[in-house]
Amino acid sequence: MSKRSEIVAAEECIALGANQRQFVSYPNRETSLGELSVSRALPIRERRLVGPWCFLDRFGPLTFSEGKPLDVAPHPHIGLQTVSWLHEGEVVHDDSLGNASILRPGGVNVMTAGTGISHAEQTPREHTGRLNGVQLWTALTDQHRGGAPGFVHIAGVPTIEWPAGVVQVFAGHMEAASLPGPYYSPLLGADLQVHPGHTLDIPLDPSFEYAVLVMRGDCTVYGEHVTERTLYYLGTTRSDASLSSRGGARVLLIGGPPFSETILMWWNFVARTPEEIAQARTDWEERHRFGDVAAYDGPGLDAPSLVQFARPNPVS
Ligand code: MN
Repeated sequence: MSKRSEIVAAEECIALGANQRQFVSYPNRETSLGELSVSRALPIRERRLVGPWCFLDRFGPLTFSEGKPLDVAPHPHIGLQTVSWLHEGEVVHDDSLGNASILRPGGVNVMTAGTGISHAEQTPREHTGRLNGVQLWTALTDQHRGGAPGFVHIAGVPTIEWPAGVVQVFAGHMEAASLPGPYYSPLLGADLQVHPGHTLDIPLDPSFEYAVLVMRGDCTVYGEHVTERTLYYLGTTRSDASLSSRGGARVLLIGGPPFSETILMWWNFVARTPEEIAQARTDWEERHRFGDVAAYDGPGLDAPSLVQFARPNPVS
């Protein structure tokens, strides 16, 4: 290792490649995003990745009357995709490519960082006074991480309505509901709504590993009680999942084939080597590569010191 590489406090992350069914709970870690409290479900020490999913923050539900609870100033990303999904409220996205979009429940924003992009995310001036949702990241494969940055807004994702519940697919596919792009490797991201007093049976891909996060309500998965603010890792080799609720529930389901590459996460960067991270940090500080978010009124975020974080502490 070069002298430089030794001073980057980045975390190596790899999907552990479970080859069997599991049912393991991991409590979320409470942290903050500016003034907004978030529950971080991924990454966690024991479970860095679920398929290509390498980051999952849950924010809200909260009610507000003034100000903007979400106000993340311009910051850079490399090597990943950000995936934003809401249950309530609105988020404005602006990026260095000039994309501007308002995300609302039922839609999804997918930003592909590739070799570099910067963006800002805020609560818009006109809003419902509610905020409740998640942001996830996918790690881009080595084959695709050198690609151009991009942004896609989809106003309404594919939905399946069954007697027992509703499935909204914001990444990948489940039966006829399909949203394969703009994703670059096999994955699933779905919002499962279980109707009160019903059992929702859904098909799974045995080659995928999966995890669930309860967003609201009471729920059992395979008969086991699952609660909010805990990630439940289900492992692989499952061909279906059975979710029951007395009063109704909404549950996030993520999955994909165990990611075969070891990634390095530091701040908002997903890379492979400390040198890449150090270079991306320098480029952001010197205003190279990433571009400016012209639509944001105010300065961008300063990158932390390369040695500042013993654990990854992304701003999302
Ligand atoms: Mn971000």
